[in-house]
Amino acid sequence: MALVKTMDMLAACERGKYAVGAFNLNSLDQAPFLIKRAEQLKAPLLLVEPGVIEKYMSFEDFASVAARAAAKASVPVGIHLSHGLDLEQTERAAKAGFTSVMYDGSKLPYEENVRTTKIAVEIGRKYGCAVEGELGALGSSFANVSESMTDPALAKDFVARTGVDILAVAIGNAHGFYKGTPSLDFKRLEEIRYALMPYNCYLTLHGGTGIPENHIKRSIEMGIVKVCIYTEMCHEGKKDTVAYLNAHPEYTGNYDIPEMLAACMGGFARSMESCMNMFMCIGKADSGIDALPFAPKTFTPTAMKSAPAPIAASSVSDIPPNTDIGPAYPSLPAENKNFKATGRFWDKNV
Ligand SMILES: [Zn+2]
Repeated sequence: MALVKTMDMLAACERGKYAVGAFNLNSLDQAPFLIKRAEQLKAPLLLVEPGVIEKYMSFEDFASVAARAAAKASVPVGIHLSHGLDLEQTERAAKAGFTSVMYDGSKLPYEENVRTTKIAVEIGRKYGCAVEGELGALGSSFANVSESMTDPALAKDFVARTGVDILAVAIGNAHGFYKGTPSLDFKRLEEIRYALMPYNCYLTLHGGTGIPENHIKRSIEMGIVKVCIYTEMCHEGKKDTVAYLNAHPEYTGNYDIPEMLAACMGGFARSMESCMNMFMCIGKADSGIDALPFAPKTFTPTAMKSAPAPIAASSVSDIPPNTDIGPAYPSLPAENKNFKATGRFWDKNV
């Protein structure tokens, strides 16, 4: 296995009823480190560069290092841009060799989100990479205002008009640590999935940190094939870094930086393993995904760029704990029985 198309990876997830973990990287040396752990777990992996950290890690450098590491991997690895800030950035990532890019127009008025996401899809087609869009406001759980969940009818309109390959949905999930116990709206997820049956569009869940394991698994059973988690990894990385420094009081000036970074990445890897367990993707590396040909590129470090404009913070209200997540996988509405469509879900007759 090696570098693979994100869409092939997601198709395998859907066939096998598991989700791939999309994990943010903070530095280039994290790519081979996380790939090594994924190999030990025999799990597929999506390496993610969020648009907001491009000032530290250029897309070209990231794609070059990640693709080279992926090409040598024994598990399927994809390279993904998360929350692309604008179309220009989206195109640069696609051109650099990412296997999928997210263009996040969710903060724009709906029609503008449709218009710009459609352009992002055209960019993705040009470079042969999948495109993710977002509808609804995922927001941030750091703040405490009401969120806007994805409307199923709008989701259908959005996917039909933009042609996005992957849709990030807001169903009670949010970025960062939750203030209370998050509760996913499974009825809404079912309605979104039903609305998107005619389209070859996969569903992804952002803000995985803190969502109870039974909710994550249930959402995967209901069609989520990619889950993004970052906050928890950061937390575990920081915890191990602090523990390492506390265990070495003799380092008063010249710290053993490689050891400290290794401790930090140990926390990342531990967190990644626990996530992969929830996503039910451990042991799923051999899932019949075709490898992409790898053409080595010259690694040329680029100068740091100026910081992009900060994203305006939006947020969600406290989400009440949900102890009842309802019955097992719900059946589709009866009127669907005669539904004639060529979409993926219908082909599988689910
Ligand atoms: Zn996100």
